[in-house]
Amino acid sequence: MTKPSKIICVGRNYADHAKELGSAIPDTPILFIKPPSSLIGLNDGITWNTDLGSCHFECELSIQIGHTLKNASELEARAAISGVTLGLDLTMRDLQNSLKDQGYPWERSKSYDGSCVLGEWLAPDIIADYKNARYTFKVNGETRQVGETEKMLFDIVGLISHISETFTLEKGDVIMTGTPAGVGPLKSGDQLEMTLDTVLGDISWKTFVR
Ligand code: ZN
Repeated sequence: MTKPSKIICVGRNYADHAKELGSAIPDTPILFIKPPSSLIGLNDGITWNTDLGSCHFECELSIQIGHTLKNASELEARAAISGVTLGLDLTMRDLQNSLKDQGYPWERSKSYDGSCVLGEWLAPDIIADYKNARYTFKVNGETRQVGETEKMLFDIVGLISHISETFTLEKGDVIMTGTPAGVGPLKSGDQLEMTLDTVLGDISWKTFVR
């Protein structure tokens, strides 16, 4: 697997999630970055510094970029998608709220070691239509989040084009496209399952909280 130079995340891309956090609906995409050191494998198990409060799951459709993109058109952006999977944008929510309240950057709550878990990459054509993709996220067998990309405020291909105006995207870079409503705290021992609807049927990845 190509190690990303960066993982670019989109905040509040589903209105229902912005609403559940009491956040305003953005008129341009909210972007932040996780460094490559934030990545852990599905089998590593999720951990965080519990002295800093809760860690919330945010299950997100995630895109891998296949070649360098800068100021890309939407056509160029679509052609640069080299992989798709699901991932978790893990968030120390209490810490994030405290940072937000003070007007500070979010990175300590969202970009720490272990804050990003990704499934294995699938070929991009496994999704027929990026504007109409669907996935689910379960905790201990119970469905907690349903992602439907038609409900995104900013669609995936448009997002890639927009992001490339600010950040040069390099081969292997990852874009996490935002989370739908339903986020909540994780606890030790939780068994997590992310399932993507694909043209070949459902494909799932499992991980867990240590
Ligand atoms: Zn997120």
